[in-house]
Amino acid sequence: MQKKHSSISDLFRITTPAAALAFSLVASSSHADEDMSKPVIKVEKKKDGTYMYIDGVKVHETDTTKQPLPPVVTPGDKVGAPPSDAVVLFDGSEESFKMNWTDTKGGDSKWKVVDGALESVRRAGYVQSKEKFGSCQLHIEWASPAKVQGNGQGRGNSGVFLMGTYEIQVLDSYENQTYADGQAGALYGRSKPKVNASRKPGEWQSYDIIFHQPQFDKGGKVTKRATFTVLHNGVLIQDHTVLSGGTGWNGPHAATEYKAHADKLPISMQDHGNPVRFRNIWVRELKD
Ligand code: MG
Repeated sequence: MQKKHSSISDLFRITTPAAALAFSLVASSSHADEDMSKPVIKVEKKKDGTYMYIDGVKVHETDTTKQPLPPVVTPGDKVGAPPSDAVVLFDGSEESFKMNWTDTKGGDSKWKVVDGALESVRRAGYVQSKEKFGSCQLHIEWASPAKVQGNGQGRGNSGVFLMGTYEIQVLDSYENQTYADGQAGALYGRSKPKVNASRKPGEWQSYDIIFHQPQFDKGGKVTKRATFTVLHNGVLIQDHTVLSGGTGWNGPHAATEYKAHADKLPISMQDHGNPVRFRNIWVRELKD
């Protein structure tokens, strides 16, 4: 009867020179943090073949109890439509607005639904989701007013706030110059977008946002900063940007800091006095 492994040298044997060049065999992962240039590889020779483990994970594992298959998610029927596992926060109807949104005190919001879009109303205050979220993928579409009024920060200004706290600027930035870290797609006061991918005033635009929330220890100290990846109309404008502090307006220095907060908080949009519209808002929660 054949032994499972003929010898320890078999267990870690490399069979071809190419493999020998490509892989460094390490019997345990205890040195994994010592060389970032290559993975930790373990080769296991069995009766029915040779198996490889990279960073402790078996390559091509077919046992789904050991390597579960990703859950099936049915994508939306067209680009931008919510997939099957999304929480739809606004689908264009009055009902979904009433069901999912309030003002910042938890009361009825004075924002209005017009032609299937949620419109900001001057002095109505921010609107916020009833449901709370931490790290998430957020899809949201917006349009600044077709009739151009004002300039700079006064033209089509709103904002999408993750955890009601961290603002991705919404602004009519089509041929409308303002400071770079305050134009559309900026993490306000912190990180300008890589490019200006704005459409014309009145046209629908999209943000696809991948947000990882900051982490705080029990004393409220930041142990992990928030990160943002944002696509504006399908164009990458924030590439895993690490947010070094808050995005709050604090005069010309914008020197706001992180303040410890709950693990989950509402998503909110800003009333900046301009009738900016939103539609097709959906969220997928992410595990950190
Ligand atoms: Mg704003």
